Amino acid sequence: MLELRDVAARYADGNEALRDISLSVSPGEICAVLGPNGAGKSTLVRILSGALKPASGTVSLFGDNIATLDRRAIAQRIAVVPQTVEVAFGFTVRQVVAMGRAPHQGPWMSASNADNEIVEHAVRACDLVTLADRQVKHLSGGEQKRVAIARALAQSARALILDEAASHLDIRHAVELHEVVCREVVDRALVCVVVLHDLNAAARYADRVALLKAGRLIAFGSVEEVMTYRRLKEVFETELYVGVNELDGKRYFLPVRPSH
Ligand code: ADP
Ligand code: MG
Repeated sequence: MLELRDVAARYADGNEALRDISLSVSPGEICAVLGPNGAGKSTLVRILSGALKPASGTVSLFGDNIATLDRRAIAQRIAVVPQTVEVAFGFTVRQVVAMGRAPHQGPWMSASNADNEIVEHAVRACDLVTLADRQVKHLSGGEQKRVAIARALAQSARALILDEAASHLDIRHAVELHEVVCREVVDRALVCVVVLHDLNAAARYADRVALLKAGRLIAFGSVEEVMTYRRLKEVFETELYVGVNELDGKRYFLPVRPSH
């Protein structure tokens, strides 16, 4: 289980980016984090990955306080696809995906057969087979994003965090990404947190929704509890239409043109 208790986050310039955040995500669950630009979503990801220490409160990961774990121990437990992916110059796709195995390997980083199988599984899952021997720096933004996702899958961590991972993907790869994540979460009972701007994807895939605004957790609960017309309008300050798809009973959302 991933659990945050009364977490606050502050940057070096004194900016308090999160305040009073308490939530938990269980194995096998996807938690979508929604909120406008600047709400604190990426800050929450940094807190979960140990990249930013909470100013107060605690983050616990499968029973361990993250503050007591070193970088390697955190990387064995949690895989993160950051919002901005850094390109590893001079490496091929397969080499970058294989870097996901590093937290499980000794100082010489020699790959076992099991490591290679995990890497190939991640390469296939992210539709990278035909790109596997290409240099990552020569790929498009969306392709590079898929490499980062494959690398995170190869990390075989029990928690998977994705920050706007689908944002630069074409519609087919966005759908495939959500499906891959969903399948991995169920098959391997992962704890999963996804930052999304796509309300429809959130309603389709999330078991829980955390709605953030100005560093505060406005609501945390099921899609039906959290993704209501009133709450979304308040948080995003925009008019939208909330419907229910009769085929699957899931909510869907359409932006509405403001009336003049
Ligand atoms: P989101 O991902 O929801 O768009 P962020 O978590 O990136 O939002 O940012 C939340 C707030 O923290 C914003 O006001 C942003 O300007 C501020 N912030 C983000 N990163 C830093 C930083 N490194 N130093 C100072 N303030 C930051
Ligand atoms: Mg962000």
